Amino acid sequence: MEKRADQKTKGLTDVQKAALVKRQLKAQDHKFRSQGKTIEWSPRITSPYDLPIPGWNERRMTLRDFRLTCEREKIVLLQLPLPYRGLCLTCHDVPTIWIDSTLRGVERLQVAFHELGHYFMHKGLPLMLMSEKETDAVRDWYEVQADAVSIIALSPRPQLSKAMRKHANRVRKTQTNRSE
Ligand SMILES: [Zn+2]
Repeated sequence: MEKRADQKTKGLTDVQKAALVKRQLKAQDHKFRSQGKTIEWSPRITSPYDLPIPGWNERRMTLRDFRLTCEREKIVLLQLPLPYRGLCLTCHDVPTIWIDSTLRGVERLQVAFHELGHYFMHKGLPLMLMSEKETDAVRDWYEVQADAVSIIALSPRPQLSKAMRKHANRVRKTQTNRSE
């Protein structure tokens, strides 16, 4: 007989509970995929520049943008102390993003948009069914893509261009001073 969830987690710390839930979700997801069930998804985004978020790559994103996007996409957002920084999982068609609630400031923002990147770019991909070796390489590539999303969230094009111009001007000034 299946133990009730509260009995299973009795006496566990928050961190242990989170690890247990993560294992359960992964097992469920694996079972779901191995039964050959397919998930209905809207088309995936293939470029980190193309996220359907108002102001994307035009202004710096905030936690408010993240929350509103989760609401719009019907992503369940779980914020609690975790043994990892963040996680994006889908179980039985319900996308879920987990964020370690002990994270603050820029780090929290980075993790939030990294996970959102996984949601937009990798949802429904059959990661579990790939061979071990292939999975490692693919997983690495997914991480690079999710990192690109979080970088764009924090340094959108106008901000990056401004920083580059400022830096270029400083270099130019140093060179002019030297030649005088
Ligand atoms: Zn990741």
